[in-house]
Amino acid sequence: MNCDRCLALLNDYLDGELDGNLQEQAKTHLQACPVCHMQFEQANLAKQFIHRKFCLPPAPLGLQNRICRAIRKSSAKKYIRKIFISHRILVEMAVCTVFLAVITGTYPGSSPSS
Ligand SMILES: [Zn+2]
Repeated sequence: MNCDRCLALLNDYLDGELDGNLQEQAKTHLQACPVCHMQFEQANLAKQFIHRKFCLPPAPLGLQNRICRAIRKSSAKKYIRKIFISHRILVEMAVCTVFLAVITGTYPGSSPSS
């Protein structure tokens, strides 16, 4: 592995997201190359700093579940709203059809007016 490749993979290496062979190649290069090792150390310090400053402990399970339910509920409402907006003319035609069917008495269970 050369320096360009190692530095391109540095964040994934830090996050442990490389596959085993690539992770091992990066590790070997970082142990042998002082330039890349210094970049690794700086990135690692930055990652630790961000983790200490901004990472909060996980929320209680009950809270996580409530948030997930709220997101799903919100997503369902947005989906329904999106359908109504994107197919507005069809929705309006369906409402008119039902209205006319009720008025003319052809809608099941309805009786003609007058
Ligand atoms: Zn290097």
